[in-house]
Amino acid sequence: MYRSTNPMTGLVEAEFPLLTADEIAQAAQRSAQAYVQWQAVPRAERADAVLRIAAIFESRRDEFAKLITAEMGKPISQARGEIALVASICRYYGGNAETLLADEVLDPASGDSAVVRTSAIGPVLGVMPWNFPFYQVARFAIPNLLLGNTILLKHASNCPQSALAFERVVHGAGVPADAYINLLASSKDIDALVASPHVQGVSLTGSEKAGASVASQAGKHLKKVVLELGGSDPLLVLDSGILEHSVKAAVLGRFANAGQACISAKRLIVLDEAYEDFSTSFAQAVSNISFGDPTDPATFMGPLYSASAKDEILEVVDDALAQGAELLVGTASARTDDAFLEPMVLVGVTEQMRAFHEEIFGPVAVLLRARDADHAVELANSSVYGLGATVFSSDTAQANAVADRLEAGMVVINGMAGSQADLPFGGTKRSGFGRELGSAGIAEFSNKKLIRTP
Ligand code: NAP
Repeated sequence: MYRSTNPMTGLVEAEFPLLTADEIAQAAQRSAQAYVQWQAVPRAERADAVLRIAAIFESRRDEFAKLITAEMGKPISQARGEIALVASICRYYGGNAETLLADEVLDPASGDSAVVRTSAIGPVLGVMPWNFPFYQVARFAIPNLLLGNTILLKHASNCPQSALAFERVVHGAGVPADAYINLLASSKDIDALVASPHVQGVSLTGSEKAGASVASQAGKHLKKVVLELGGSDPLLVLDSGILEHSVKAAVLGRFANAGQACISAKRLIVLDEAYEDFSTSFAQAVSNISFGDPTDPATFMGPLYSASAKDEILEVVDDALAQGAELLVGTASARTDDAFLEPMVLVGVTEQMRAFHEEIFGPVAVLLRARDADHAVELANSSVYGLGATVFSSDTAQANAVADRLEAGMVVINGMAGSQADLPFGGTKRSGFGRELGSAGIAEFSNKKLIRTP
């Protein structure tokens, strides 16, 4: 069953039955038939359709934002930001189709004339999470639709209304029904879909466990796979020269979306010389976070997406507290049955604790103290993950040198981590492989065909 449960009220707002295995197999077949026509549509017409999708998201932003808030608890102001980001992704791909898909002219030593032409490959499957229910879908589906691939989309089982709304927008913009098919499918039926001869590739955004499962099936059937998995991103503060800026980035980075973001600044690594100033200002700023009703535009932090998520996070906090860590902000003892978890800052976390190693997918910052820049890099790289990282320093040469040494797919210097339509997004190590967005994102599920004329 796909079920929308409002995390603010705990009430089930909508339920949808799962598709049967036969219905899923038929959808793959329809997607393959639609591909024949869709890839033959002139590129400029596909680009126009993508621009029409942008226009729908722009004109109905509040309606979709309210749906996000009701379905997974994101504060309404951040939900509006998510829809604006979706529209910007559509504008970027729709507006740059000719450049992104232009032939690459080569100059081989043989003197042959040679170009690499980027073409579509067929139906591609996206498996997506609930934490940015529109943005995650957009960054996979929009470049692939522009390229000429058709989309099979399996969204998280707790956000069916967002999944269906996205599908309606795409169809409303004139994309043929079978070129984009939302599947209310059980994750148990995904292996069969990956194995289907109609499916040419699969992209999964989610947990390591789901990623490993889908990737092993894709490997078995020789399908291309892109994995956007978890992270435990470090935010390094190398001096107190830009203290205010770094505190603001740490608060936004760790607590936006109630900390349920892959590139959330989960570990704050602060050098000795800046530690006292940073921890005092940071604790103050975290204590001032407006926490509560996500439908209120003034709220910065709402509930988690579910009450059960809270229990998982508190287990990690309790493990740290039992081994000697302390809460600089927050009280782990204030437990309730709802999905609300107040913002917390853990200090004194050591390597023995789960909080040191695991991704905490909620509003808990881990504040670590480093002796010097080398130690800060060592702590940052001690994670099994390698998604994003942020470096703050008033010495930009030092910040760049540190950025070079970080094992991450994306590093931001003196700024906010985030996603932009025209920049590649993705990680290394156990955060996955492949890229979405930018020119890299549209290349993942393409055939880079060499055409050579001697
Ligand atoms: P999840 O449990 O892995 O779910 C993600 C999606 O995978 C859902 O659609 C889920 O379906 C499906 N799924 C789960 N197990 C599967 C399996 N064995 N085979 C096929 N599909 C399967 O992830 P989550 O816990 O909801 O999401 C949070 C995680 O996603 C965090 O680790 C976060 O860091 C990561 N994330 C990464 C990025 C990135 O860009 N790197 C972005 C956002 C989130 P059901 O809902 O039906 O189980």
